[in-house]
Amino acid sequence: MSQSAPEYTLAAHPTTVGDSRSSTKPVRVTPTLVIGGHDVIVAAGPCSVEGYDMLLASARHVQAAGGTLLRGGAFKPRTSPYAFQGLGEEGLLLLASVREQTGMPIVTEVMDTRQVARVAQIADVLQVGARNMQNFPLLAELGRAGKPVLLKRGASARISELLLAAEYVMANGNERVILCERGIRTFETITRNTLDISAIPVLKAETHLPVIVDPSHAGGRADLVLPLALAAIAAGADGLIVEVHPDPSAARSDADQQLTFAQFTDLMHGISLIAAATNRAVRKPISSPVVPNIAASDVATRSHDTRPLAEQTRAEETLAVVAA
Ligand code: PEP
Ligand code: MN
Repeated sequence: MSQSAPEYTLAAHPTTVGDSRSSTKPVRVTPTLVIGGHDVIVAAGPCSVEGYDMLLASARHVQAAGGTLLRGGAFKPRTSPYAFQGLGEEGLLLLASVREQTGMPIVTEVMDTRQVARVAQIADVLQVGARNMQNFPLLAELGRAGKPVLLKRGASARISELLLAAEYVMANGNERVILCERGIRTFETITRNTLDISAIPVLKAETHLPVIVDPSHAGGRADLVLPLALAAIAAGADGLIVEVHPDPSAARSDADQQLTFAQFTDLMHGISLIAAATNRAVRKPISSPVVPNIAASDVATRSHDTRPLAEQTRAEETLAVVAA
């Protein structure tokens, strides 16, 4: 019986099976931050950007507790068209302004090809949500966006399909892709999704791409976030993306799963123990503002890397070698 060919290949970088940790190629986010290096990286913040005060309070707490990136949705993919859809452009400006205050790089979702140029001006990492994992025109556009892409696994997507989605971004010119396991749909209904822990070592072994885990959307319940986060780091994830809100019960989206500040502090403590047990550490947060006293619109322009992609990629590779 002849062996069938693998369902996917990563054209940009041949698959490396073997010592998974040494084969991961770190993705550079800022001059001082890589994802997929030695340290565990945590992105955290509210599900949706709801206003300036709640975003700044969240960012300050996340940073003080050891989180590195600030997450927050401005454009929200909601199952119901009548649910809060996010603040849109206003949300992007609030994210830029809180980055200015805290120095935290921003990860936020882009839902549509028409939003890519604008969101890429503001965000440090462009998130593709689970519902858009196979939006091929969007993936191709993100290949040309010049910013790292956080690609979330679709709720019903196979690992091979996740990898082919990543391949769309890379084949269109952007090698800075970070994979995210966020739970898949199974017959189980007690949890919002089922966290596929197996996906972590499989992806780490099968690709050079960093792998992070979203324990918030996986369990869909705040009480499950800590155990799922611990399991993810123990299984070798390069980091986490976690929802945190100053008052989860009042959140305009995903109220059941967002952590309080105190719960987030506990989570950071727990994962630092697991990271140490696996010879890693949680990255120390960047505490000083990167671009102080500049209007949000200026920050947006400055944060957009306008160098040609080939040049950025070369610089990226040099930095990755240095970081390795
Ligand atoms: C989110 O991160 O807020 C989100 C909508 O996640 P997902 O796409 O994984 O459902
Ligand atoms: Mn959410």
